[in-house]
Amino acid sequence: MIEVKHLNKTFDGHNALTDISVQFPKDQTTVIVGPSGSGKSTLLRSLNFLERPESGIYQFDSDEIDLSQPISNKTILSIRRRTEMVFQGYNLFPHLSVLQNVMEGPIQVQKVKKAAAQQAAIDLLGKVGLAEKASVYPSQLSGGQAQRVAIARSLAMHPEYIFLDEPTSALDPELELEVLKVLLQIASEKQSMIIVTHNMAFAQQVANKIVFIEDGHVLYDGGSDAFFETDNQRIKDFISAMT
Ligand code: ADP
Ligand code: MG
Repeated sequence: MIEVKHLNKTFDGHNALTDISVQFPKDQTTVIVGPSGSGKSTLLRSLNFLERPESGIYQFDSDEIDLSQPISNKTILSIRRRTEMVFQGYNLFPHLSVLQNVMEGPIQVQKVKKAAAQQAAIDLLGKVGLAEKASVYPSQLSGGQAQRVAIARSLAMHPEYIFLDEPTSALDPELELEVLKVLLQIASEKQSMIIVTHNMAFAQQVANKIVFIEDGHVLYDGGSDAFFETDNQRIKDFISAMT
């Protein structure tokens, strides 16, 4: 399991995250919600060392990293090998076909044999509903299709966790839906995920747990049902503003 304890992150003296202590259970989907600028992306990026918090403990199973100490590249690489980040903007390789995009990581990073990587990629494209797009290039895909390829590409690495930062915020509603369906399917297969989203209906469907952040503080950390049934006026206001 991934856990952070007393994590603090500032930008130019401004507190982006203050004393964050959260567990992200394995085999579950944790959804991070909160207003714009509340620190959601900073928290997610800290879990992948794209941001460097000033202090706190980052625990990944039995590995405990003191964030206030210098962190070796070896440690950062080992965390990144165990996790995959899916961004809002897909980041597919434009010069590679869809199939090659999905095969590339396993072959280059994990030294998987080409035939095995290709078969796995074909299977994963089927899983995200894009088997027939294997040979096209990313520029020929819709945003929803591109994001599904990005998800297939991350799954191809068999990460322990997938981090997704507003994976559908660039998409029109009907394209959003096809991506959310894929994520719901993956969640039902117990892929450990941490998802930042503004889509409350999706959050309610997919989340095992919800973390609500406001102004760099955790205001709620618990079950999804209790979050959507809360009496906390601040959270109620947030949910109704988002839906
Ligand atoms: P969210 O993802 O919830 O919208 P962010 O994590 O992006 O919020 O940002 C949290 C706070 O940190 C905001 O006040 C934002 O302006 C600030 N911030 C984020 N990234 C940077 C950065 N690279 N430099 C300076 N300030 C930043
Ligand atoms: Mg963000």
